[in-house]
Amino acid sequence: MEFVHFNYFMKPVVIIGAGMAGLQAASQLHLNQIPFLLVDAQNQVGGRIQSENIKGFTLDFGFQVLQTNYPEVQRSLDLSALDLVAFESGAYLWNADSWLAFVNPLKQPGSLLDVLSAGIMSVKDALLLARLWFITQKDVDPLGANESTQHFLNRWGFSLKFQAHFLRPFFGGIFLSAGLTPLASLFRYYMKQFLEGSAAMPAAGMGAIPVQLAASLPADSIRLGMQVTEVSAHQVNLADGTSVDAERVILATDASAAAKLLGVSLEKGAFWGTKTLYFQAPAQVERKQMLHLVPESRVLHYAYLNHVQPTYAPEGKDLISVTTLDVSMQSADVLAELAPFVGPSIQKWAFLKEYLLPEALPVVGVFDELKQKAAEAGIVLAGDFTGFPSLQSAMHVGRAAAESCLKA
Ligand SMILES: Cc1cc2nc3c(=O)[nH]c(=O)nc-3n(C[C@H](O)[C@H](O)[C@H](O)COP(=O)(O)OP(=O)(O)OC[C@H]3O[C@@H](n4cnc5c(N)ncnc54)[C@H](O)[C@@H]3O)c2cc1C
Repeated sequence: MEFVHFNYFMKPVVIIGAGMAGLQAASQLHLNQIPFLLVDAQNQVGGRIQSENIKGFTLDFGFQVLQTNYPEVQRSLDLSALDLVAFESGAYLWNADSWLAFVNPLKQPGSLLDVLSAGIMSVKDALLLARLWFITQKDVDPLGANESTQHFLNRWGFSLKFQAHFLRPFFGGIFLSAGLTPLASLFRYYMKQFLEGSAAMPAAGMGAIPVQLAASLPADSIRLGMQVTEVSAHQVNLADGTSVDAERVILATDASAAAKLLGVSLEKGAFWGTKTLYFQAPAQVERKQMLHLVPESRVLHYAYLNHVQPTYAPEGKDLISVTTLDVSMQSADVLAELAPFVGPSIQKWAFLKEYLLPEALPVVGVFDELKQKAAEAGIVLAGDFTGFPSLQSAMHVGRAAAESCLKA
């Protein structure tokens, strides 16, 4: 086997995986002038955050947004260079036969009255939301609870109607869990981000975020299209038959790949899956800058993405994203399911492309064996599955992984 020696005097830290965790680890090492090599099996950086241009539309690989409030985002990204536009804070709720705007009460208190008078939310729901807002003023430990979100919502007494019309489709779309089984502390944490920050999309698509981080790194320190086949504390073997000697190894892949490389079998149900389907339609005059939450449906929500970020669609066209947790749903199923909610204009929707993501988000708390195996092997583990699924956590664990190499 041929060995690639990076430097006679100092071996690089090898980072496996150029998603947000690996890129953040690389950025931190670069800032501290520690030699590193960032390797990824794919031909582009970003992992689960990528975008592509199809027929003039910007399609993210699965609907997602940038929470501008995340501390790691504020600390490490040049947000103005991303040319962000934020969703209006709130959502459209289905009210018998039409959509009702429910705008974040902190930004537009009057909207609460509309939702109350429509009977989608009870007075008790409003008071519970206010109480929730009050307790999330303090910092929330995202992993601090020991009850599920659904249990928490029932225990607090949120009405079934408000759950079905707002809480379940909105947070189901964040957790990618229809039953809202993730931790109630995560629910409070995400709620805080949505109430206090903005959910935005970059002009060039979500994929511009990892691309920005990668652009700050020396080009010769990134090797793309190179799958790692074996890993140990100080050596990484690549699919082309070469090996790299490493000072330390940071394993920043997704959980499945990390498990494979460390010889661990993951339990069934270790991930939440989703599917995003994109449709194009002739541009509507009315701008709709929030998610449409579909109650008690196989579709969680749909959104006119170019009404928020105009660069997402060419002139005269709309780009609609549809998010479902039912990965078997086809475009025809989506059109049938949404027809009563969209109305006759749905006949003009034309299917563009779908992204099937059966391992979109790792389930929190099921990777202990993986963590233990990495520790025993002397490998530093990063990746959102070591924290909780989000850009914030991926970047945070990437930073922590780099810092642990600085101390060593
Ligand atoms: C549909 C969807 C919606 C989401 N919505 C949001 C949202 O709105 N807000 C939010 O904050 N977060 C959201 N997330 C979560 C967020 O995208 C992830 O938490 C984050 O991108 C994970 O980054 P990562 O670096 O940990 O892993 P990944 O992005 O998975 O990166 C891992 C990398 O490792 C590489 N790799 C794997 N195996 C090997 C190998 N053997 N050799 C070399 N390279 C390898 C992969 O190619 C990949 O590039 C969403 C995710 C999805 C999928």
